Amino acid sequence: MFFCGSWKRRRKGDALAKLIVIGAGAAGMMAAGQAASAGLDVLLLEKMSRPGNKIRISGKGRCNLTNASPLHDFISHFNREGRFLHQPFSYFFVDELMKFFTELGLPLVRERGDRIFPASGRAGDVVETLQQWLDSVGVELRHQAIVEQIRTGQGNVTGVRCNGETLPCTRIILAAGGASYPVTGSSGDGFRLAASVGHTVAALRPALVPLVVDDPTVRAMAGLDLKNVGLRIYIDGKRRASDFGEVGFTRFGIGGPIILTHSRMIVDALRTTKEVTVSLDLKPALDETKLDNRLQRDLHARRDESIESVLRGLLPREMVATCLNYCAVDARKSARLINGRERMRLRRLLKDFRIDITGHRPLAEAIVTAGGIPPAEINPRTMESTRVKGLYLCGELLDIDGDTGGYNLQAAFSTGWLAGRSAAAA
Ligand SMILES: Cc1cc2nc3c(=O)[nH]c(=O)nc-3n(C[C@H](O)[C@H](O)[C@H](O)COP(=O)(O)OP(=O)(O)OC[C@H]3O[C@@H](n4cnc5c(N)ncnc54)[C@H](O)[C@@H]3O)c2cc1C
Repeated sequence: MFFCGSWKRRRKGDALAKLIVIGAGAAGMMAAGQAASAGLDVLLLEKMSRPGNKIRISGKGRCNLTNASPLHDFISHFNREGRFLHQPFSYFFVDELMKFFTELGLPLVRERGDRIFPASGRAGDVVETLQQWLDSVGVELRHQAIVEQIRTGQGNVTGVRCNGETLPCTRIILAAGGASYPVTGSSGDGFRLAASVGHTVAALRPALVPLVVDDPTVRAMAGLDLKNVGLRIYIDGKRRASDFGEVGFTRFGIGGPIILTHSRMIVDALRTTKEVTVSLDLKPALDETKLDNRLQRDLHARRDESIESVLRGLLPREMVATCLNYCAVDARKSARLINGRERMRLRRLLKDFRIDITGHRPLAEAIVTAGGIPPAEINPRTMESTRVKGLYLCGELLDIDGDTGGYNLQAAFSTGWLAGRSAAAA
């Protein structure tokens, strides 16, 4: 009486064990397909009207599937808990993931920074490939199926409550994702479901999130992207990190790849009311002496122009007014009248453009969720919960978050792969 549709029909008269997978994202689809390939009868429940919504928007619609960097480097792109991934990666890592997709007919390309994308440049192709594979291995995918409860009895899973209906099963894979970009469907249900059966949930925070700056002169540069800048991060006045790459100004403050990469640390610092300042080196290829020589040359060669006009040769147009404002130099002043002190202020600013960070954008706007189910509560060889027998957890739900560059999807696919295989072998 609890069954409906083909799930009910397939159950009749067969002796297959029943697995329910909650969430058809990267982890859940991989888990469901692996378990079905190994012979399990699998029902994949997805609360949205189609699977893989987050994959579809990943990599700016191009889906950066993984990263071809070596294992030790790959793991260094995660928070401390990323060490847990050694085990899942020992079974299913970058080569295996690439082989998996190419064998399913999705050619891949390697781009700058060893990032791997579908050759078509379309994230939707990744989802379609996975969907066709799920069909071919006999997974039943049910849409608009919201799991409200995990049922247990005597320390084992016994079923789920979904859209008010009870669906019994002997194994469950919880792959409901994190809590960022809730419009994609991952709105934190997985944490509530896991907590309800005895798991702890480490404080949820945004990771890979843009930062907020109150200074209107910084916000006025919204839309400007700076490539090849040096970045230094100061927390309570102490230098805590440095990097090199791309920074972008937004209408709230700053973002861009290298800011996102360090945002986890910055968010944690702001949460403990520490002062955070970032310093941009706008001319990283020139040391102070070379930069000073360049400034002197430019000021002399263009002595009849305004300082504003001279600086346009050194900086993006959108930054010139802000820089002159910070240095207290009149934009209309003739280059020939710029004195040594003003030149020194300009030089310092170009090497050390300081921005005070006053906050961060909310979790809903983060690329990944930091916090979640501690890996210590999961068996790394199987992804099975140490709290409830027959329950497996995988994907972003875990307290593991990585940098941009394909790390998070690989973690979701690898932990999903292991959960699916283990559930089938149990
Ligand atoms: C804008 C953006 C760009 C990104 N780009 C990249 C990238 O290029 N490369 C990269 O590696 N990572 C990227 N990421 C991160 C990556 O997409 C995620 O870490 C990864 O998709 C997580 O996979 P998952 O399967 O764990 O969770 P999700 O993909 O979030 O899937 C969880 C699924 O569970 C479903 N669900 C939730 N609750 C329930 C419920 N109660 N009942 C039933 N179903 C439920 C959800 O609807 C969802 O479909 C990006 C993230 C964002 C937001």
